[in-house]
Amino acid sequence: MEPKVFDIEYRRKLLYKRKRRRQLIFQISIFLSVLCVSFFIILLGNKDNNVSSVNQKITTSSSSTEEKFIICIDPGHGDWDTGAKGTTGVFEKDIVLNISLKLGKLLESNGMKVVYTRTNDSLSWLETANDSLKERIKIPEVFDADLFISIHCNSNYDSPDSKGLETWYKLSNNDSKELSNIIQQYLLKLNYTEDRGLKTYKSKDDALAVLELNSSISSLIELGFLSNASDEKYLNSDLGQSNCAEAINDAILSYIKSNKESLINKRNSN
Ligand SMILES: [Zn+2]
Repeated sequence: MEPKVFDIEYRRKLLYKRKRRRQLIFQISIFLSVLCVSFFIILLGNKDNNVSSVNQKITTSSSSTEEKFIICIDPGHGDWDTGAKGTTGVFEKDIVLNISLKLGKLLESNGMKVVYTRTNDSLSWLETANDSLKERIKIPEVFDADLFISIHCNSNYDSPDSKGLETWYKLSNNDSKELSNIIQQYLLKLNYTEDRGLKTYKSKDDALAVLELNSSISSLIELGFLSNASDEKYLNSDLGQSNCAEAINDAILSYIKSNKESLINKRNSN
């Protein structure tokens, strides 16, 4: 028997097999090259996207801080901390949240940037119950808020006749006093209760932390007494809440209009 190397059929098969193998290797290497090139194209595309989205973020945030004033709205209390309780069982925390959310929408529709200390019944940022007020004012600080508006309702269960509206300002701070005065005047125009006037604390020892420790120009509004049936009825009604939100919105816009330059200077100096 002749050795296989001289068998022409065998050699043909061998050559055919080698040819097929070379073709296969060629096809695989083409496939892998295409795969590598596609991978790099996708990689570069993503990188470009990332860069442009970062750029976009920077542009958006810089233009928003340049053009928009930032208002921090603080609906008082929340969660386990119900605040005052009305004669019908309504909670201060719920009334002030409703008004705050209405106010925020109005301010946003007027070109303001709005941040809230809470937008629902939870105090998600709260680490310890004792630090509720101190934790609260970190929010305007983080967002560099120009104005801080804290919204509350009063109560005096020993005197159900006590009623009225009062706005608190930061001790010895004219900006806070002016803002609080405008808010008080706009709310009084609604004519739903008595004027208890502008208020501040006597010394830093009995200060309201949300005002005293706040670097934004701040006001704390006590819209009325939930222990008084008439104040409670108005503040618990949808119309009353919408009216209060509108009055505070108009007051803030009016304050900003007449203090635009000093607000921008204050922002730039911080
Ligand atoms: Zn309160």
